[in-house]
Amino acid sequence: MKTATRPSFGRKSLLATALGLFALAGLAGQPAAAEERAKVLFGAKKLPAATSSQSIGFYSKGCFAGGVAIPMDGPTWEVMRPSRNRRWGHPAMIAVIEKLSRDAAADGWPGLLIGDISQPRGGPMMTGHASHQIGLDADIWLTPMPSSPLSAAQRETKSATLMVDEKTHLVKDTLWTPAHTRLLKRAASYPEVERILVNPGIKKKLCDTVKGDRDWLRKIRPFWGHDYHFHMRIGCQPGSPNCKAQEATPPDDGCGKPLAWWFTEEPWRPNKNPDAPKARDLMTMANLPKECRAVLDAPGPASAEAATYHGGSVPVAAAMPEPEAPSLPATTANGAAGLPSSVNAFTATPEIGIPLPRPRPGN
Ligand SMILES: [Zn+2]
Repeated sequence: MKTATRPSFGRKSLLATALGLFALAGLAGQPAAAEERAKVLFGAKKLPAATSSQSIGFYSKGCFAGGVAIPMDGPTWEVMRPSRNRRWGHPAMIAVIEKLSRDAAADGWPGLLIGDISQPRGGPMMTGHASHQIGLDADIWLTPMPSSPLSAAQRETKSATLMVDEKTHLVKDTLWTPAHTRLLKRAASYPEVERILVNPGIKKKLCDTVKGDRDWLRKIRPFWGHDYHFHMRIGCQPGSPNCKAQEATPPDDGCGKPLAWWFTEEPWRPNKNPDAPKARDLMTMANLPKECRAVLDAPGPASAEAATYHGGSVPVAAAMPEPEAPSLPATTANGAAGLPSSVNAFTATPEIGIPLPRPRPGN
């Protein structure tokens, strides 16, 4: 995707950031800024905002800062469709995915094929998902990782296995295995994971076959699509005061009436207005939480590698003292590459909204 450049806009944004959020609100009131599509601005970002990690807004209406990338390969995972550059998430999300990959391998699932997580700074996307905007959602394929490594080309083109018959909405029994059930159970077992979206056919298969402990079925939620992958969502993380939590799932296993509805005609009626624009196509910066403007304008790390998660430590900057005032230079000639070495995804910043050196737009 070509990087968008916003020569005149950048200076304005920097000023607004420096003046704080009141000025920001004023800027957003100007038609030119208000009408700019948020998906275009966020879709153009190649690297995260190099600040402490925080999710801002809601899963389908927000952004996030201090994102980290899951490495393209791990002992128990491979990133699929890498050209989309959607392997970014809140560090807690990336940690959960890596943990699931290890635990799943121990359970007999060879490894995870990882689909979309988020864009580097989240926000609405040019294509696909309504959610995945705040770094707390991840799609994992229901196809196990093959025994030999996938080439870069294969990662772009390999098809996933469709697990559900599109007419009956039931799982294809020849494809579903106990290992699939174990994988979903393992994912649901983590306290961070609040819900897992699957096709109604998959939910029904679990409802019909899981014996013994069924408590975890509460987190497994039927939804359209999700027939070749499942969608794992974690809750708002500490340090994200502006993250909007999702309603808790009902306490029962969800195998009764609400599931039966999915096997009626109603959910599958053709969309009367298929060409109507989606929310993500219309969203402007004015529709997103105001802090997302500062996320967009914050400097990035020196490289994707500098913001790649290599496990172990607690999320970015959470353990570091927060300085009283910014101690960063006001400008830098070379963008992110010219920043002092202390400025990267693992450096604490006072808070979003503080003036920071701004690299070229679209980094
Ligand atoms: Zn998803």
